[in-house]
Amino acid sequence: MTTLKAHSDQLFGLETSLKPYNTFGLDAHCSGLYHIYSAKDFIEFLHKELTPFRIIGGGSNILLTGDINGYIVKNEIKGIHIEEENDETIQVRVGSGEIWHQFVMWSLSHRLYGLENLSLIPGTVGAAPMQNIGAYGIEQEHVFHSLNAIEIATGKIVNFSKEVCMFGYRESIFKNTHKDKYFITDVTYCLYKKPQRLHIAYGAIAETLQMKHISNPTSSDISEVVIEIRKSKLPDPKIIGNAGSFFKNPVIDINHYKSLKIQYPDIPSYPVSESAVKVPAGWLIEQLGFKGIIRENIGVHKKQALVLVNYGNGSGRDIWNLAMEIQNKVREVFSIDIAPEVNIW
Ligand code: FAD
Ligand code: NAP
Repeated sequence: MTTLKAHSDQLFGLETSLKPYNTFGLDAHCSGLYHIYSAKDFIEFLHKELTPFRIIGGGSNILLTGDINGYIVKNEIKGIHIEEENDETIQVRVGSGEIWHQFVMWSLSHRLYGLENLSLIPGTVGAAPMQNIGAYGIEQEHVFHSLNAIEIATGKIVNFSKEVCMFGYRESIFKNTHKDKYFITDVTYCLYKKPQRLHIAYGAIAETLQMKHISNPTSSDISEVVIEIRKSKLPDPKIIGNAGSFFKNPVIDINHYKSLKIQYPDIPSYPVSESAVKVPAGWLIEQLGFKGIIRENIGVHKKQALVLVNYGNGSGRDIWNLAMEIQNKVREVFSIDIAPEVNIW
């Protein structure tokens, strides 16, 4: 039986600390926090008419700039169910509160392919379609089948196909027209039983596989390499508070890029189309001298300029001020707008 568990003693007044619920480790408060274990729990929560409220999964893609005026729904919906399978593929429906990396590990233990490049990304399965999580040349849309979500205004369950989700680079319909309108309850992925559509050309992966003399990698081999690379470059939120890449990589017009290239011959780029290129935001930020800076309790990570960090007692407001300073400087020097990837609350 599922239960609706509320911290009823802390329901009113700004008393419930969200520090354990966000990977920046920021000590913001909310009026009350509800753990939701099923779609039914969420419907019951809606009936309580506790508004406004926000949904949290792993809290690894949010910046709390202050206390939350309202309630927090903490998603804990679990379960991994095989829906369908044939010789080639397997369709798996996953509870949105499952930990993403644990789901990836489940797929590897079943010798499945498709999720290996997305190993060690923090957060929950339900948040993965929100920004179409991606790493090392793969995005979750590559194996996404569909999802179920509850429409907050009506309590109705709606099924979303891949086409309707409108996935893009760190984008989906849920970050745009459907923002804050749905609670995702489960996501169905279609994984491969044999090595298919492997993405191992991405610089660091190819180099590490070669170093290990692995020429026909399994999904577990690739996952191990990804985990190794990530551990060597990215701060562990359990040790240093962060939310991964703070900004998205900007896509700029090719002519703009060519003019920057004259002034900055080393500027890296990756083609997006004939007329546009992606420029790593981390490179731009590093050129401006922000990499590794420390401002009292916060700063920019020393190994990755795209990651803003909280060294312990920083405030969300300070992190946001630093982010805006970086954003303004990038605009001033390179005439490029870098947009936050992290959800600012
Ligand atoms: P949260 O931060 O809890 O929520 C994010 C947003 O989604 C919020 O707006 C929230 O309201 C909404 N939301 C969450 N769950 C639901 C739901 N069930 N229904 C409706 N709305 C919901 N991201 C990448 O894409 N690639 C990476 O390689 C990557 N690496 C990272 C590395 C580190 C060290 C860290 C800290 C973060 C990284 N991220 C990366 C960012 C983050 O892990 C992902 O965006 C992740 O999907 C967020 O999941 P979450 O459950 O923590 O979401
Ligand atoms: P990196 O390898 O140092 O590369 C820097 C940037 O260049 C990346 O952001 C990546 O863009 C781009 N890039 C590098 N090689 C590329 C190629 N062959 N084709 C296209 N683009 C290329 O990056 P990193 O910081 O160590 O991160 C490694 C991967 O993990 C990246 O894909 C990154 O997106 C992902 N990651 C994401 C987060 C997050 O919070 N979103 C945090 C950590 C790592 P893309 O980002 O578009 O891939």
